Amino acid sequence: MTPQASRHIMYGDIENESGLEGVIMSKLAQRAQKLFIQHLRENNLKVTQERLALLDEIFATSDHLDADDLLARMKVKKRKVSRATVYRTLDLLVQCGLVRKSRLGREHYFYEKMEPGGGHHHMVCMATGKIIEFWDADLDERLRHICHDHKFRPSFISIQIQGLSEEGQKVEQETSFF
Ligand SMILES: [Zn+2]
Repeated sequence: MTPQASRHIMYGDIENESGLEGVIMSKLAQRAQKLFIQHLRENNLKVTQERLALLDEIFATSDHLDADDLLARMKVKKRKVSRATVYRTLDLLVQCGLVRKSRLGREHYFYEKMEPGGGHHHMVCMATGKIIEFWDADLDERLRHICHDHKFRPSFISIQIQGLSEEGQKVEQETSFF
């Protein structure tokens, strides 16, 4: 599936206004699981407990996780999942548009759940690895205008700013010779 096609998965009616985040998340997670199972079956892939457990883990958090984080979290839950399974499952989840993969920092890939209307950008601290999410509707509109001016139709807009967070600036000062 192309990245563009993967953006078209619909979550259906997800109530965002009940104010009960736990309930909303579990609804989102349930819907995601249904779509993932459908995707696996359509591709003649096995629906395994390991694959579903990995999906659950990603949808139970707002964190940006890398493959090692996921392996560690599975270990804590005493679930035996191989590194190969983690990578393969992450690929599948990205393919079907349920998980967003971002290269944050130099060579590091992070994974996070896709949420309806959850578009956002990232600031990455090069000293501490801290990731700050941000969103600005005016900026988004401006970028869409720029695309339009170039007769370009955007399917996914993602900005990454690398630099130093507040903590990172302190680390830098403490370790600087000058
Ligand atoms: Zn993010």
